[in-house]
Amino acid sequence: MMGPSHALSGAAAWLAGSWALDTFAGYSQSPLAVAVGATVCAGGALLPDLDLSGKVTRNQGGATVARTFGVFSLFVAEVIEKFSLGIYTATRLSRDPRRNNGHRTFTHTLPFAALVGWGTTALATHYGKWAVVGIIFFMAGLALRGLFDEWAERAGWVIVTLCSAAIALFTAARLPGDRGYPMLGFAVGVGCFVHLLGDIITSAGVPILWPIPTGRRMWRMVGVPNGIAVRVGGKTETIVLRTAFTVVALLAIAAMFAPGLLHRFELDAWARER
Ligand SMILES: [Zn+2]
Repeated sequence: MMGPSHALSGAAAWLAGSWALDTFAGYSQSPLAVAVGATVCAGGALLPDLDLSGKVTRNQGGATVARTFGVFSLFVAEVIEKFSLGIYTATRLSRDPRRNNGHRTFTHTLPFAALVGWGTTALATHYGKWAVVGIIFFMAGLALRGLFDEWAERAGWVIVTLCSAAIALFTAARLPGDRGYPMLGFAVGVGCFVHLLGDIITSAGVPILWPIPTGRRMWRMVGVPNGIAVRVGGKTETIVLRTAFTVVALLAIAAMFAPGLLHRFELDAWARER
């Protein structure tokens, strides 16, 4: 799938999950906690495509996500792509084809999702509030780039970077210092996982089984059969799926917060009197 669909699916998954936790497990979160989680999860759902670099020197190309912070993120993407290719080459078995590009390899595996999720929580726990600010800044940048791609394209990476910084500082000022950190890593991990699901339904697939070898292949691409695969950028993706993700996200928000809002403005009492 393309960047905006990945980001939307991440946000929708987090909102739906938060609603389910609230409804069935009695675990309720503040609106800010839900908003931060959804933003981080949307950003996390773009993270695996940070292995698609472009022309750094000309500030061109790369996945949506690689352009978030201009040449800086393009450079990071270049490094991640080469690093992933290195892992691919080092662990490839005799039936795995040779590759000269690392896209859709290491960053599209379950160990990667677990690793960045754990790493995020470890960073936040170890370095405290300022690490959290940094993480939210980075993830908010990715989320803005993904969710509002047309605006981000027009505004340019400097504005996107400034907006992410504003979101991070706003959140930091209101963040309780003692809890919520495991949630941050969890949101990143869930985002990556949702990204893998999004790529599995396209015909190219992802190496979801890595590092479990099957038939002298370590990097078997697993995707749905061509006949029913979603075409990247096709109508099923840009219209049907994106609408579905948006509806799920809005319903979850309404179900979690509309009753509280009604109550706050005593609209429920007003409605009962009618
Ligand atoms: Zn991908």
